[in-house]
Amino acid sequence: MIAQRTDFIMNTPVEQTVIGPRADTIAAQAATLLHQLERALTFFQPTSDIWKLNHSEGNAVKIQKETATILRAALHYSKLSASAFDITAAPLTDLWRQHGKQQQIPTEDEIKHCLSLVGAHYLTVTDSTAALDQQGCAVDLGGIAKGLAADACIDFYRTQGVHSAYVNLGGNVKALGGKSPTEPWSVGLQHPTQPRGTSFAALSITDESVVTSGSYERFTTVDGHRYHHIIDPRTGWPADSGLLSVTVVCENSMQADALSTAAFVLGLADAQHLLQSQPTQAVFVTDNGDVYITEGLRSRFQLAPDYNHDCYLLH
Ligand code: ADP
Ligand code: MG
Repeated sequence: MIAQRTDFIMNTPVEQTVIGPRADTIAAQAATLLHQLERALTFFQPTSDIWKLNHSEGNAVKIQKETATILRAALHYSKLSASAFDITAAPLTDLWRQHGKQQQIPTEDEIKHCLSLVGAHYLTVTDSTAALDQQGCAVDLGGIAKGLAADACIDFYRTQGVHSAYVNLGGNVKALGGKSPTEPWSVGLQHPTQPRGTSFAALSITDESVVTSGSYERFTTVDGHRYHHIIDPRTGWPADSGLLSVTVVCENSMQADALSTAAFVLGLADAQHLLQSQPTQAVFVTDNGDVYITEGLRSRFQLAPDYNHDCYLLH
């Protein structure tokens, strides 16, 4: 039996494919699980641990164990990426989001003020509490939560005895097993300048996650210039590192999610350096459309026949 369902969770379409007995029920239960995770982690609703933390005015708040785990993981990736990935960039991401809604960009003074509130040292996490040092500081898990959710979903399938499944949270993919015992899953990589659903390449995966961060994902246009949603926490501006997108491939989806955001901020050379230190493979698309893939993807990456740009192998 194959169950396929789509829900809108974490501000994105979530597509599940589950193969095996009771697939419908299992997919429905996974959707419930993802809704629960969203409620615990969202920036936008008072239901969440994150909301309570962001509105705690410097006091420690009680958090669930899962929230502590993701906050700690986020701090780890922040350190690893020299703060290119930084959940405490929330004052900035929120500033840009609010202005974006009005088709405006913030002033330099507003950016400077928010920059002074950004830094992993402002956040303290224990097993059951979290605290932010200063009023105005905040955290935003938008760059890592979908990865955690994909991991949780696949773990759940496994506990239900599923051997073959696939979940896609708006470009954040994770597979359990292959499509069949002899066939991998095929993941289309979103073309950075073509309409949603158009792939520029396909990648075969088994028991792995594939996560893409791209400037095309969410953006606002002001005076003919595009401002996208991935912010460089070091400058306070949307990252401008010469990349249109970065796809990270590894087993752990939370890791792939955090590192794809970090890599997008860092740009090709620094990102390659960071990713080499981790058990990951990657696909980069630079501003001119050229593609760079790491050696480990060589045999399972296929460029679309009509994608007319160069493709290079990274060593
Ligand atoms: P997407 O949401 O498109 O899948 P990402 O995983 O790259 O893409 O996450 C982007 C989201 O993460 C933004 O919408 C914002 O909430 C948050 N964010 C933006 N810049 C950063 C950053 N440098 N570090 C951590 N989180 C970020
Ligand atoms: Mg991410």
